[in-house]
Amino acid sequence: MERERFDVIIVGAGPSGSLSARRIAEKGLNVLLIEEHKTIGLPVHCAGWISGCPFTEKLINEFGRENIITPVDRWRVWTPSGELAFEIKFNGGYFVDRVNFDQFLAKKAIQAGSHLSIRTKVIDVIKENDKINGVIINKGGKQYKIYSDLLLGCDGTRSIPMGIAKKSGILKYDKKKGREFFPGIQVELLNMKEVEPGVIEIFFGTIFDKNLGNAFVSHLEKGHGMIGFGTFQDYLNVKKNHPIFKKRLENAQEFGIRAGLYGILLGESLKTGVMTGLMLCGDAVGYHGIVPAAISGLMAADTAVYAANASDFSQETLKNYDRMRRRHPISKMKFGISIPDLSEDQLDLFIKNEGEAINKALFKDFEKSDYEL
Ligand SMILES: Cc1cc2nc3c(=O)[nH]c(=O)nc-3n(C[C@H](O)[C@H](O)[C@H](O)COP(=O)(O)OP(=O)(O)OC[C@H]3O[C@@H](n4cnc5c(N)ncnc54)[C@H](O)[C@@H]3O)c2cc1C
Repeated sequence: MERERFDVIIVGAGPSGSLSARRIAEKGLNVLLIEEHKTIGLPVHCAGWISGCPFTEKLINEFGRENIITPVDRWRVWTPSGELAFEIKFNGGYFVDRVNFDQFLAKKAIQAGSHLSIRTKVIDVIKENDKINGVIINKGGKQYKIYSDLLLGCDGTRSIPMGIAKKSGILKYDKKKGREFFPGIQVELLNMKEVEPGVIEIFFGTIFDKNLGNAFVSHLEKGHGMIGFGTFQDYLNVKKNHPIFKKRLENAQEFGIRAGLYGILLGESLKTGVMTGLMLCGDAVGYHGIVPAAISGLMAADTAVYAANASDFSQETLKNYDRMRRRHPISKMKFGISIPDLSEDQLDLFIKNEGEAINKALFKDFEKSDYEL
């Protein structure tokens, strides 16, 4: 590491990290973006659905419409008894290749002047008297200290149980309070039947992994889909025993498996994501999804530039970021619905009676999200 001090250090080159790095570098500050993996975007853990809203249109205009896999315009929900409960036509956004997308955003950050350090794992924060002063990294088996005025924790879901959110002490992670984490996989399939590009489907039922309680089907291209399950065992069980999947997956070929971590309170963001010298963004502050990650990263970047101009990195000043994001529709984008202890019959009725109204209200919030790119 040639420099030992940067104005801003950003941990994680996902959407929140790359977009904030780009914005801060554009304003002339010295930015270091740190990514533990050797290739940006890999290993991929996401289906690549960017929900529809004015901000997404700006992102896609930059990314290039020719790079979209398919626009999304229909949302279908199935009951545990295997009936189609409802279908909504909506402004669903787009499916993109998440690896290309993350690499595109990281390239923009570098072209704007950010320094990128790949194969670099942040192993701890440097903290003195409740102020974050930088990070300790491991690069090539050696440890180094790098100092900064500000640190942005953009290190994804793991931040809360084991990353910057936890190490900084910003969050007293308490398992008993219910913010827990569970694995999720996306199985990418070719030669799948009944794929209608542009559709997203959710199948509910006790047949699915108990944490997730559903399967999330992304219809990408003819014969090409991605299905979100809890575990690989869950996928094998559903493929064999679910009447609709049995038929659809009869001749399907597994093309790839992507794995990640879900927070049980999907999209329920932390009330406070700042302390002196630190802001958390994206999944690290509890959001779920590309759009909230991107917008929260940009809000943190704007707050960082303001703080740098004022030479004031105190918690009081950075709290402006918390206020901005809490007033924004991204803080309403909660995917998780709590369906405690419902039997399949009750769930069937609930989805038929309440499902459509709940989903429409959710999309109304999604569709309002905007921010300057
Ligand atoms: C199975 C699954 C499917 C999903 N599908 C969708 C979808 O279709 N659409 C959608 O909008 N959202 C989806 N999500 C959620 C979405 O992937 C996240 O909300 C989004 O990636 C958050 O972006 P981020 O920038 O906050 O974090 P991330 O994209 O997770 O990026 C964090 C980065 O930080 C790096 N990092 C972590 N720790 C360190 C460290 N110590 N040192 C250095 N680098 C580090 C990681 O390697 C990673 O590159 C899915 C999630 C899962 C688990």
